[in-house]
Amino acid sequence: MKFREVLDNIKIYEAGKPIELVVREFGINPQDVVKLASNENPKGVSPKVSEAIANSASKAFLYPDDSMFELKDGLANKFDIESSNIIIGAGSDQILEFISRVLLEANDKVLMSAVTFAMYEVYARQMGAEIIRTNSYQHIVDEFVDGYKAHKPKIIYICTPNNPTGDATTKDDVLKIINSVDKDTLVVVDGAYMEYASAKDKKYQITPNDIIDYENVIYLGTFSKAYGLGGMRVGYGIANDNIIKALHKMRPPFNITTLSLLAGIEALKDEEFVTDAIALHQQEIKRYEEFAKDNGFNYIDSYTNFITYIFDDNMSSTDISNKLLQKGIIIRDLASYNMNAIRVTVGTQNQNSRLFEEFKEIL
Ligand SMILES: *Cc1c(COP(=O)(O)O)cnc(C)c1O
Repeated sequence: MKFREVLDNIKIYEAGKPIELVVREFGINPQDVVKLASNENPKGVSPKVSEAIANSASKAFLYPDDSMFELKDGLANKFDIESSNIIIGAGSDQILEFISRVLLEANDKVLMSAVTFAMYEVYARQMGAEIIRTNSYQHIVDEFVDGYKAHKPKIIYICTPNNPTGDATTKDDVLKIINSVDKDTLVVVDGAYMEYASAKDKKYQITPNDIIDYENVIYLGTFSKAYGLGGMRVGYGIANDNIIKALHKMRPPFNITTLSLLAGIEALKDEEFVTDAIALHQQEIKRYEEFAKDNGFNYIDSYTNFITYIFDDNMSSTDISNKLLQKGIIIRDLASYNMNAIRVTVGTQNQNSRLFEEFKEIL
């Protein structure tokens, strides 16, 4: 069978390895596997949310409220915007997919940083679009403005904080990029880790309110990281009504589940869980910075719930990742991003101690 030609250029997304794989391949007990590969919340799920999910299990036969009124209402209150400015997706990933589909025709261009979230490229390629990258993984204003002028992309992706590098772009710089482009280019501000950046340094904080008055900007957020709901698949897009209406034309009915919807609603009522998760993170990430310094390799100052270690030529990220995997520690090798680097989700105190121990042994 001959599939669409654009598929020839798409690499299947390599998700973080599951615990089950390590158990199967290396015969390690599931409770001894430490998974620090997918930027999940080490504090797990808010007890209030997990109780609500358990109590509502018998509702699973019902389709969810497709208007998602209560969840949108919670987000509208949180961000001081209108419900009509919000679309809910099965993860913010699904919103990224809708964005590609409402805008991109074959051979259109999209602009993104040299190293950034892999799904921007996948969704754009599905539509036959061409990928343009800046030179740096950081979002440098001049590089984006030059790239915009040279290529007139339909979409510009700003991932701040950036995955898989962990750096962030100041609000000032993001607004400079936004203000340098015409209204027929959509700027996507992906704030999947924004809660961590806001807690670390306010000059990196971007809220939906900062961008809502622009005709051509959308803010993306997710419950998968700071809110601890990666497995429930709930994300959101916030923009002016016109953008949201267009995106809704691509949305299948009931695109998140009844229990996911409930989880999102309840998660918004437990901001203390997020605050605690960030506090744990801020304490533990210091140990990662120390570990890098003590062992003579570099790290990128992180505004996310993970840290990226960069190695010299005398160390191989793939080699290190494989050796850790054999010991039951799952982290992310960034070799496929052309970086001799690894990305490690900052875990619980015990998980992190395990990683340092095993890592030390490899070194
Ligand atoms: C995790 C992540 C997302 C979205 O994840 P979902 O689980 O689909 O909400 C989006 N962008 C970046 C940069 C991410 O790291």
